[in-house]
Amino acid sequence: MKIEAEVTKGFFGEFGGSFVPPQLQGVLEMLAEQFEKYKDDPNFNEEFKYYLKEFVGRENPLTYAQNLTEKLGGAKIYLKREDLNHTGAHKINNVIGQILLAKRMGVHRIIAETGAGQHGVATATACAMFGMDCTIYMGKLDTERQALNVFRMELLGAKVVAVDKGQGRLKDAVDEALNDLVENYENTFYLLGSAVGPHPFPSIVKHFQAVISEESKRQIQEKEGKLPDAVIAVTGGGSNAIGAFAHYIDEPSVRLIGVEPDKAATLTEGVPAVIHGFKCLVLLDEEGNPQPTYSIAAGLDYPGIGPEHSHLKTSGRAEYYTVTNEEVLEAFQLLSKTEGIIPALESAHAIAYAAKLAPQLAEDQVLIVNLSGRGDKDVHQVYGMLNK
Ligand SMILES: *Cc1c(COP(=O)(O)O)cnc(C)c1O
Repeated sequence: MKIEAEVTKGFFGEFGGSFVPPQLQGVLEMLAEQFEKYKDDPNFNEEFKYYLKEFVGRENPLTYAQNLTEKLGGAKIYLKREDLNHTGAHKINNVIGQILLAKRMGVHRIIAETGAGQHGVATATACAMFGMDCTIYMGKLDTERQALNVFRMELLGAKVVAVDKGQGRLKDAVDEALNDLVENYENTFYLLGSAVGPHPFPSIVKHFQAVISEESKRQIQEKEGKLPDAVIAVTGGGSNAIGAFAHYIDEPSVRLIGVEPDKAATLTEGVPAVIHGFKCLVLLDEEGNPQPTYSIAAGLDYPGIGPEHSHLKTSGRAEYYTVTNEEVLEAFQLLSKTEGIIPALESAHAIAYAAKLAPQLAEDQVLIVNLSGRGDKDVHQVYGMLNK
C-alpha cells in the first residue's frame, strides 16, 4: 500500500488547501514559493542541521525503556527523546527551521500566536539567539492564566500582545496575528506552531519535524536490525506525530498510531469541515460550530487537526485512539517511577496507549513512542490533581 500523501498544492486527499481572503492568499503563495526553493537546498539544510545539533542538542537518543517493558510484558518499548531538546519539547525543531527560512527571505521580524505559551516560548527562545524582532500574540485570558510563560517570553526579549477582542483566547490571537501579517508581510514572517493552518504551513511544519523519524528510523535499525512494528505519538495539532510518522508512511509494515484526549477527540469523532483557513476533521456542535475542547494537557486543546492526519485517518493508513484523563495521569506516574523520566502531560497520552497495546503484542515486537516533551511544566498541575 503506497499512499500518495501530498496530492496537489497542499491537499492531502480531500483535506488541507487554503481557504483565506485574497490578500492573505498572495502572501501564502509567496511563502510556498520560498519554501519550495529552499527545502532541498543543501546549503539551507546544512545550516538547519547545524543549529539542531549545536542549539537544540540533536540527535537525541532512542532510549530502550527496559523497566517499563518488563513491567508491562509484551512488546519492547523505545522512547524517542524529544524531551531532551533545548526548551524541553519537539516544538523547537520547527521554530528553528522556519526562522532560517525567514532569514533566507530577508525578513527580520517574527510573529506567532500561542495558547498555553509553549510555542511562544520556543519562538522567543530562537528569536533571541538569531537576533530577530519577536512579537507573540496571546489571548488576554491566556496571558492571565499563563503569567509565568508571559514572563519567560519577555525575559527572552519578545513583545507579548494580550488580545482582548472576542473571548480573549487562542482563536482571537490567531486573527490578530493574521491581520498583522497582511499589513506587514514585507518585513514579517508568521511562524506557525503546529501542522495546521492553510497551505503551505502543514507541509513546512512536517518537513522540519520529520527529523524525528529520520533519526528514529536509523536508530531502531542500529538497535534492533529492523523497523518498528508501530510508532505511537500524541496528536494536538499533529506536529510531533507527523514528524514521528513521516519516514514510515511509505513502510506499510509499520503501524502508525495517533493518540488524543477523549475530551478533544478530533480524529476519532470529527467530521470534514473548514476551520482557520483549511479543511480537516473538526469537532462540531449541533449547530455546526467548532466545539470547545477540554484537555488536562494545554497543548492539546484544539478542535481541529492537521490535514495530513485527517487524510491518514480516512484513508486507513494511520489509526487514532483516545485515552482518558485517568489513564494519562497513571501513565505520567508510571513512566516517572519505572524509567526516571517525567513526561509532559501531552506525551503521557502516547505512553498511556502504549501501556495498553504492548501487553497484547509478542516479546519480539517493537514499539517506538514519541516522547514529545518533558513534564517539569506540568508537575504543579499534577500535584493539584493528585492531592484533591
Ligand atoms: C504542543 C505540544 C504537543 C501538541 O502539539 P502537536 O503539534 O500535536 O505536536 C504535544 N506535546 C508537547 C510536549 C507539546 O508541547
